[in-house]
Amino acid sequence: MNKEWIRTTLRQVEPYKVPVISESTVINANESPYSIFDFPAVKSDFLQRLERLPSYRYPKPYADDLRKALGEYVGCTPEEILVGNGGDEIIGLVCSTFLEPGDTILTHWPTFDIYGIDASMTGAREERVPDKDGFVRSAEAYGQAVKEKKPKVTVICNPNNPTGHLWSTDEVESIVAASDRPVLVDEAYLEFSGLESSIPLIRRYDNLIVLRTLSKAFGLAGYRIGYAVGQKEMIDALALTKATYNVNAVSQTAGLVAMAHRDEILGFTIPRIVRTRDFLARELKEIDGIRVYPSAANFILCRVPDGAAAVKALSAADIAVRSYKASALRHCLRLTATTKDTAERIVAALRKEFSHA
Ligand code: PMP
Repeated sequence: MNKEWIRTTLRQVEPYKVPVISESTVINANESPYSIFDFPAVKSDFLQRLERLPSYRYPKPYADDLRKALGEYVGCTPEEILVGNGGDEIIGLVCSTFLEPGDTILTHWPTFDIYGIDASMTGAREERVPDKDGFVRSAEAYGQAVKEKKPKVTVICNPNNPTGHLWSTDEVESIVAASDRPVLVDEAYLEFSGLESSIPLIRRYDNLIVLRTLSKAFGLAGYRIGYAVGQKEMIDALALTKATYNVNAVSQTAGLVAMAHRDEILGFTIPRIVRTRDFLARELKEIDGIRVYPSAANFILCRVPDGAAAVKALSAADIAVRSYKASALRHCLRLTATTKDTAERIVAALRKEFSHA
């Protein structure tokens, strides 16, 4: 094929690559260990609703029932929500709505790769503000960078993936206030942090977009349901390039069921995952040469003496983890906190690899 047929801004794009996995325990994508089918009441509600779902009908283009239910969950009106095919779609919509060739998207670094990848597709450039030692971010320095660089879009990932670092709501607000252009606050992992969402700030900031997802805390990664929260005009703008029927009917149904049973699902899931995360952090700290970074999410980032050896040792224990090529993350592993049993296997494999008594 003639490569010049491809849009100019797409020719250099490096797509996001999902690794092929052969291990049976997968802790490389921050997925929940719990399925909605693990909860009998949730399972039967979902199956009954599925049976009543006419497969020949198109889904609701704006997932109206679901956005009403999500609005009740996060405290806003349906018009202040846009449901996407995963949070990933929301990030794409932010980029395609606001970025043009030559624009800048500002990120703290390291963070989730998709912001920079989606921005590059529009011809925009990612500018990165590096974290301080220990992957600690300074809200003051980031706010200052926003004022100096005046990016078209500013990103805040809170808690941050992959470091787990958390900014307080006041710190988030100080950054949102520093910009008079769109600020995306990605709260994909908020439910694990114990922090209040930044969503109430949409009342005061017309430039704020908060991203949430049902992939993590609700264990619905396979159904692809994410959402943006912002003022109505912001939501209308983000919908400009959305595919008409972006969220299929089965997913909308799964989302509705998750919302109808949200207290049961979160009440079971969150304390268990948080306990596993804290257990992992405590145990890994005890192993020679491993540095653990404090995390407010459902994963732990740690630096080990030899990243490649750790990946190999975990793979030998039938566990797939996330490691990184970026130099800031050399020898770092991101371990998803799932069950205590999996955490014990991770600790045992890494202890065997790195404890040289
Ligand atoms: N934001 C962050 C920070 C993430 O880590 C992820 C998932 N890896 C997403 C957004 C998107 O999640 P999803 O598309 O599954 O909703």
